[in-house]
Amino acid sequence: MVVTRFAPSPTGYLHIGGLRTALFSYLWAKKNGGKFLLRIEDTDKARNSEEAAIAIVNAFAWLGLAHDGEITYQSKRDDIYAKYIQQLLDEGKAYRCYMSRDELTELRETQMANKERTMYDGRYRDFGGTPPEGVEAVIRIKAPTSGPIVVKDGVKGDITFQAEDILDDFVIARADGSPTYNFVVAVDDALMGVTEVIRGDDHLSNTPKQIVVYEALGFVIPAFYHVPMIHNAEGKKLSKRDGATDVMAYKEMGYTPAALLNFLVRLGWSHGDQEIFSMEEMIELFNPKDINKSASIYNTQKLDWLSSHYIKNMPNKELAELLEFYGLVLTSHDKKEILLDSLKERAKTLKELAELTKEVLATPTSYDEKAVVKGFKADATEILNTFAAKINAADELHLPSDYHQLMEAVVQEMEIGFGKIGQPLRIALLGKLSGPGLDSVMSIIGKEETLTRIANAIAANS
Ligand code: GLU
Repeated sequence: MVVTRFAPSPTGYLHIGGLRTALFSYLWAKKNGGKFLLRIEDTDKARNSEEAAIAIVNAFAWLGLAHDGEITYQSKRDDIYAKYIQQLLDEGKAYRCYMSRDELTELRETQMANKERTMYDGRYRDFGGTPPEGVEAVIRIKAPTSGPIVVKDGVKGDITFQAEDILDDFVIARADGSPTYNFVVAVDDALMGVTEVIRGDDHLSNTPKQIVVYEALGFVIPAFYHVPMIHNAEGKKLSKRDGATDVMAYKEMGYTPAALLNFLVRLGWSHGDQEIFSMEEMIELFNPKDINKSASIYNTQKLDWLSSHYIKNMPNKELAELLEFYGLVLTSHDKKEILLDSLKERAKTLKELAELTKEVLATPTSYDEKAVVKGFKADATEILNTFAAKINAADELHLPSDYHQLMEAVVQEMEIGFGKIGQPLRIALLGKLSGPGLDSVMSIIGKEETLTRIANAIAANS
């Protein structure tokens, strides 16, 4: 069975790069009928917060990415790690190192002076003597001192590291007994039955160390896929300024989960030139072997384009529910269908849609000066009054087409162009010259409100 995982360190909020590898891992597990596990790497007590772990879980819930089974918290697994450290000590594959801090510093300085790689020199590797007093030992693993260590990477191909270039007998448990990062990652992935590790290629340099741990413990080494980073338009690593903020900030900005996930799946993965992917399609088509070898470029226009695509195609009922988060509660009185149909083509985000909608529903309290100069000419009052009289005289006004007919009638009767009524009416209804179709606006706000807005505009502008 395919088992993947997402293993965030809860030092901050879930960010976009992390979410992308989580999505890849999720898709691959789902495609294979496997499991997608969530492990919170919260061993660094000083830098981790429970809040951050909760934020990650909340972000997953918002996106609808369900993980399988219980969440694994590394902070609760000390006994397990201790057991495997003891096993390595018992088998002679790890040992206590009594080097003091001063000795370590001295070694490092000598190596630097000799222009050598700074590394532990293995002096306690085969130590049989009496340990020095007053030094709390760390535990080091016996790493290979030479020879190749091959990371078989599904994205980058085989990457061969030479043990003598990169490894020393690295610490697996600190003096206080706490296990170190590369040790716990390897132990957890193995015990959780992870078969494929999909993660950012910033972790590639950790992988040889993790392989040393797997081998020492006799665990099966999973398949690795190291995903190239996301870059900004300048080709630099994505930073906060480029929009690489907390995933939940995308919700605040008004992006839908569908748009965000679609955006992310295309960052570093492609399927021909297809751009729009439903979750079902992503699951069906995703394969980590197709992950691009080079960095992907974060492009806000693309995200906006996808976002507007999903908004345009969303049923109004669903849209109305989502809009509540942005402070817009629509009732049936608001003629939701017409309102959203007339506006959803115009909005890039849910937030924008909520704002546009609020604008339509609110009686203008001021008028854009430039618009008035351009569109509210001397004849505007007469034209609007003629139109208002027709509205007053009409019995049934409901649909946009009912209002449209009345506008047509004014145009014919007064022998004017459509713009002659359109511009002042638009200023009256919306306070400016942009916005959705006027017939839709009037149908949404209704007869009384339309008359009020016309009267207000005449009073203010003529
Ligand atoms: N905890 C690591 C991080 O948040 C990920 C470890 C891994 O995926 O192996 O960067």
